[in-house]
Amino acid sequence: MSKPIGIGVIGMGWMGELHARSYQQVPVRFPDAPLTPELVICADEFEKRALGSQAKYGFGTAATNWRDVIGNDAVDVVHITTPNNLHLEIATAAAEAGKHVFCEKPVGRNPGETAQIAAAVREAGVNSHVGFNYRWVPVVQKAKQIIDEGRIGDITHYRGQFLEGYGANPNAMLTWRFAEEESGLGALGDIMSHTVDMAHMLAGPVTRVVSQKETFIKERPAAVPGEGTHYSIGAGGPLEKVSNEDYVGALVQFESGARGSFEVCRVVVGEKLGLRFQINGTTGAMHWSLERMNELDLYLLETEDPVRDGYINLRSGPEMPHHANFNPAQGLQISYDDLKVIEMYEFLRAIAEDRPSVPGLAEAVAVGAVAEAMRRSWESGHWEAVTPI
Ligand code: NAD
Repeated sequence: MSKPIGIGVIGMGWMGELHARSYQQVPVRFPDAPLTPELVICADEFEKRALGSQAKYGFGTAATNWRDVIGNDAVDVVHITTPNNLHLEIATAAAEAGKHVFCEKPVGRNPGETAQIAAAVREAGVNSHVGFNYRWVPVVQKAKQIIDEGRIGDITHYRGQFLEGYGANPNAMLTWRFAEEESGLGALGDIMSHTVDMAHMLAGPVTRVVSQKETFIKERPAAVPGEGTHYSIGAGGPLEKVSNEDYVGALVQFESGARGSFEVCRVVVGEKLGLRFQINGTTGAMHWSLERMNELDLYLLETEDPVRDGYINLRSGPEMPHHANFNPAQGLQISYDDLKVIEMYEFLRAIAEDRPSVPGLAEAVAVGAVAEAMRRSWESGHWEAVTPI
């Protein structure tokens, strides 16, 4: 058994529970993990959530005050899975206490808060990780290898989307994601962050953007505190104003010279979980969609055979990164939850090897710089350069 490492999780909603059960899976899926996670303490402002998670996942103790997690000497890593308005205060306190920080995206309410958290982590000299989990899809890692090997040539076009319908029903409740005070940015922080991080990983830095936004559904039924998720539907109660954006679109230019577009929306009808990329290079192309996350459509000009001049469909399999840790079969599916197990394993490896975990705060700041340029473009109506934040 490898050396133990103490884990504290703050915010026991969807993500907090997923982080906890992903750690339970690490020793099973990755027997070579250099550290053995021990679930020390979980916290939620609602006692029933804290106690419920303690009972389900076997945390040593539970709390309603997140400061009990920071103050617990047995905790080495603090996971921040609260609404975005708490990321800055908790991450700063955790870093100052010498704890490694895993913060869910978008890391704070806005790029300014992301930069503050990055500075706190840097000054404390602790490690960090950010929940850009879609990087870890085995066929996406395979796509990156194919690009890095030069098989599709120089990337000329990149189209990234995250089209979701979680708020498409006007009676989807006004949970924290729709409230600027708690969430900060709307779709720009929530889902554009995933789109930009994916583009950065596959096609390199974005250098300039021109962007627009819209809030299509302006009022929603008030949420019940401590109940439900952002998929909850309610009707008949009082309506409250939505105070951040539903939609963001942008034309983008990459440092490499590639041109492209990003489009994200949380209220689009028909789409369910449309995180996608389409990439064209000088000698090939590829298409991927989260709704069929185990498949990569790949076109390679190198075949030079007119009969085979078309896309081939690669299926996830044990020869792809991390797939064999979940099952030994070609074409058998990897799930969303598995990505979180990979994420925890990769974070533990980086901590054990004393090197910065990727994606960490540095990658979140790079995403934040693009978001900030988009936000400036909403005001100026012009192209804006991506500058350091
Ligand atoms: P959620 O609403 O399901 O859970 C948030 C939890 O935090 C709730 O249980 C709430 O009671 C708790 N909380 C609120 N205030 C608190 C306080 N003061 N102290 C302790 N607990 C408190 O939200 P979620 O969907 O799990 O999102 C949480 C974070 O994870 C957000 O930053 C979100 O952007 C991110 N997220 C990431 C992904 C991904 O794919 N990486 C997916 C969903 C959410």
